[in-house]
Amino acid sequence: MAVPRHKHTRSKVGKTRMHKNIKRVVLGVCPKCKKPVLSHTVCRNCGFYKGQEVINVLASLTKKEKKAREKEIKQAEAQQK
Ligand SMILES: [Zn+2]
Repeated sequence: MAVPRHKHTRSKVGKTRMHKNIKRVVLGVCPKCKKPVLSHTVCRNCGFYKGQEVINVLASLTKKEKKAREKEIKQAEAQQK
């Protein structure tokens, strides 16, 4: 088994652990539905990216979910105006 040759000072330990933290995720806001989204990614809520529809979000939903989502999107658009 490998044995450490030198003492690892508290300073060295601290310098290593300094980079082992969890970095805060920086979120932007979707211009269409105003939900928080990761930058440079398609909005999971409305399926839009750069003003174009990339994913049809409503296709994979059930009838009830689809109705609720459409209502939500309409409300967001109404708030925008
Ligand atoms: Zn969106």
